[in-house]
Parts: sequence; structure tokens; C-alpha cells
Amino acid sequence: MTTNSETAPGEDRSTALAFVNSKHRRGRVVVDQIETPEMLHAWLSRHSMTVPEPPITARELERTHALRDAIRTLMHGSVEGEHPPREMLRIVNEAASAAPRAAALDWTASRGPTRRYTTVKVSPIELVLSAMATDAIELLTDERRQELVECSGPGCIRFLLKDHPRRHWCSPGCGERARAARYYRRHLPQPGGAQSSALASDPSNAVPRGG
Ligand SMILES: [Zn+2]
Repeated sequence: MTTNSETAPGEDRSTALAFVNSKHRRGRVVVDQIETPEMLHAWLSRHSMTVPEPPITARELERTHALRDAIRTLMHGSVEGEHPPREMLRIVNEAASAAPRAAALDWTASRGPTRRYTTVKVSPIELVLSAMATDAIELLTDERRQELVECSGPGCIRFLLKDHPRRHWCSPGCGERARAARYYRRHLPQPGGAQSSALASDPSNAVPRGG
């Protein structure tokens, strides 16, 4: 049984989703794939994003983590129908607006009309955070919003875009744990009900006789 599938469904359709899922759980341990500047650097290149040079500063790393927390809160709010704190909206909007894009049209005899984008001069990390904040805004307002769910695997903190109406888990491992948890819930004694059978079957309650 494999339990640590690296990406959740939908991460290929949303960098903001992959960004939020860069913090997840493996068993009881929280794994942060962008915990240090070096790890963030590696994560960004794996996701084909501009890699900031020179090294990412502690302040930039802090802003990156704050943006991820804010996007997570907004996604949770969208899934649960809860109104998110205004501060989280401010963080995402501010990051998105740090690097406004302007389309420009070029027209040459040989190539005809071609499009390019210009941005105001900002640091590479601001450009990257702006792209992820923009994707988060689009995800929460376009058709992908209906597919966004939180994984139903016990203890899992990842989000995914459902690629099947009944699929609510990020990996086969979480699917199996979700099914096992449902099974145990059905077969556990009801609250207030008799628990004698559970106690009787617990080997630690067995008392050696004689001797
Ligand atoms: Zn999961």
C-alpha cells in the first residue's frame, strides 16, 4: 500500500493548490516542503517558476509562509461556506497587486501581431507570490471552485480538485484510511452503550490465572 503520493489531484491545474499542499502531514508529522529558503528555492524550480537570485531572505520566506496560510484560510472558507477574516483577504490581494501585468501588442512584417506582457520592476519573489495569489483568486472565483474539497483522509490537511464526484481524498493511502475510519465508526459501541466486549477483547485486561 502506498500512502505518500507526492501530488494531490488538481495540483497540475492550480499552482496555488500545490502551494498550499506544500505543507501536509505524513502520519502524525507535519511536512513543510518550503520550510527553509533552500527548500523554497527547490520547490519553485520543481514547479517551473522564476527562481529568485540571490538567496531568499528570512523576511521573504516569512511573507511566503504568511501568503500560504492566507490562501489556505480562503480555500477552507470556500469549502466550508465560512466568511474568512478580512486580514487574509488583504494579504492575498496585496501579494497579487505587487506585480501588475500589462499586455502589449507588437506587429512586425515577418511575424504579424504578437503579444507580450510587461510588469513593473519587482523582486523575483514578489513576482512569484503575485502569480500564486492571482491563481488563488482565480481558483476561488472560476469553475474550479466547485471541485475544491479538503481531503477526507483522517488527519490529512491537503486540498484537491475532485476529478471524480465521489473522490474526496488526495491519495490512495488517504482513501484507505478514510474507508477504515468509516468502518470503525460504524462498528464502535454507541456513546453510552455497553463497552464490555471491547474491554473483554483487550489483551491487556487478561489476568494470568494460577501461578
Ligand atoms: Zn489526504
